[in-house]
Amino acid sequence: MSANGKYEDSHLYRIRHSAAHIMAEAVLERFPEAKIAIGPPIEDGFYYDFDLPRPPTDEDLQWIENRMKEIIRKNVDFKVREVTPEEALAQFKDQPYKQELIRDLVSGRVNENGNEIAAPAEKMTFYTQDTFTDLCRGPHVANSREINPDAISITYKKPAGAYWRGDEKREQLTRIYGTAWETPEDLHEYLNLLEEARKRDHRVVGERLGLFAFSPLVGKGLPLWKPNGAILRDTLERWLRQTQLDNGYLPVVTPHIGNLNLYRTSGHYPYYKDSQYAPIQIDEEEFLLRPMNCPHHIMIYKSDMHSYRDLPIRLAEFGTVYRYEQSGELHGLTRVRGFTVDDAHLFVTPEQLLEEFKNVVKLIQYVFNTVGFGDFRARVGIRDPQSEKYVGGDELWNKATNAILEACEELELPYNVEQGEAAFYGPKLDFIFRDVLKREWQLGTVQVDYNLPERFDLEYVAEDGSRQRPVMIHRAPFGSMERFIGILIEHFNGAFPAWLAPVQAVMIPITDRNVEYANSVANQLRAAGMRVEVDAGKARMGAKIAANRELNIPYLLIVGDRDAAAGNVSVRLRTDEDLGAIPVGDFLKRAENIIGAMSLEL
Ligand SMILES: [Zn+2]
Ligand SMILES: [Zn+2]
Repeated sequence: MSANGKYEDSHLYRIRHSAAHIMAEAVLERFPEAKIAIGPPIEDGFYYDFDLPRPPTDEDLQWIENRMKEIIRKNVDFKVREVTPEEALAQFKDQPYKQELIRDLVSGRVNENGNEIAAPAEKMTFYTQDTFTDLCRGPHVANSREINPDAISITYKKPAGAYWRGDEKREQLTRIYGTAWETPEDLHEYLNLLEEARKRDHRVVGERLGLFAFSPLVGKGLPLWKPNGAILRDTLERWLRQTQLDNGYLPVVTPHIGNLNLYRTSGHYPYYKDSQYAPIQIDEEEFLLRPMNCPHHIMIYKSDMHSYRDLPIRLAEFGTVYRYEQSGELHGLTRVRGFTVDDAHLFVTPEQLLEEFKNVVKLIQYVFNTVGFGDFRARVGIRDPQSEKYVGGDELWNKATNAILEACEELELPYNVEQGEAAFYGPKLDFIFRDVLKREWQLGTVQVDYNLPERFDLEYVAEDGSRQRPVMIHRAPFGSMERFIGILIEHFNGAFPAWLAPVQAVMIPITDRNVEYANSVANQLRAAGMRVEVDAGKARMGAKIAANRELNIPYLLIVGDRDAAAGNVSVRLRTDEDLGAIPVGDFLKRAENIIGAMSLEL
């Protein structure tokens, strides 16, 4: 993505969009009976959706890639022309998906790229290159010589499925992804990162380390945390809970469902109806699996009368929520149907907003740096001054926006401002983390909210005795524990910092004679709070070392006769570094220092 300006305006975007059309041309040569849907550029390449007579094989995909390069080398022009709906329908008389798009265009539902618009189109545009014509608004390169044939590639060897118009009830299509770059060097760097990302896939690593599982009988998108995963998650939660207590947050616990009227009052129902599950009937009342924790926390605030002296009130809960995701969108831990938010809601006076906001950002910075997520930036979503959709007066908005910007400046948090990205009830700050593979992930968020206090008629008694409205701050550093841990697994490739490792050390006795000594050392380390296992299996030492290294256990403690006699352990780090034989007490001191400091080193 270019540093200045929008991706959509960049040359790379045109290259990728044009490569998508060339891919469609090649696919139609390979499968003349294929039906074509849509093919836009995406963040790291492009795709095109097809209805194919059979799933494409690796051989098909290779053929398509080679053919794309041939077409590019022919230096074909991309020509645009305006057509009437009648011409468009005639051109695509054998293409039902295009026919549907054209009819929607005419009725004003979508534009040529399938994006929703309001005005009905009387004219539409075609782009033609070589033998292929597409209904398209562009933009494209002028000629395929602008595309480097050695800088393109089909990226997914096993094509992914997609639903026509993203609707599960419609036809399932084959989505073929490709990528295109300015230079072959850029392409290779990208392909290497992609390969590395495949190896680090949290679903694969999670299985290897015994962190979590899915069961069709439990349901799609509902992760089951196995003991190792639960230990990792619990370690994070206990630490964050304590950190929050130290910072004046108060714990609360609330149920996973709530009366439908609660969500009618909050506006979540029916406003976010599409992402919620159908209400559950209990006796005469209707309940919703909660999509958000805010309304429950608000009812806790409302259960007491508050004076300005009580504020700020910071209510925190690892609150589980349920949101509908299409089954095709589900992905390991990063896209699930039930997840736990490291949530908190702060009820503050307008005068306290700036200070509280800064404290929230400081806490999030501390949290990210501690877990080893040091490379992050912020995105400030502010209101679009032209739009009418926002609640709250100008003065409140300016105050809140200034609070966010001032907090970023003061805390030296790199940020960019995006107009129109605010929630309708207030501006927000999103945290974006860049992992070792340079992929960006949106994690936690902080939002200022004037709307819910209004809807729930929240009050506090001010110094002069008058009733005043508090402002709410919603914040979640990780966002979703599930998603965060999925990202954590991929970032560290399963080699977690020692304080987070589900098993921190494994004892490896060289012979059966040394098992007793191994057990006694293990007990000593456990008594000091370490998570230790003993590998007393029959395998040879070399095999045990290899197997435990696969599990990314930070410390491999090998003990033989000489270690037992001297009260030593021979320490091998998971990085393969050999610390040699050292007294048990010395090892414990080293490990305690590292774990206590939540260090990223071993
Ligand atoms: Zn197009
Ligand atoms: Zn909230």
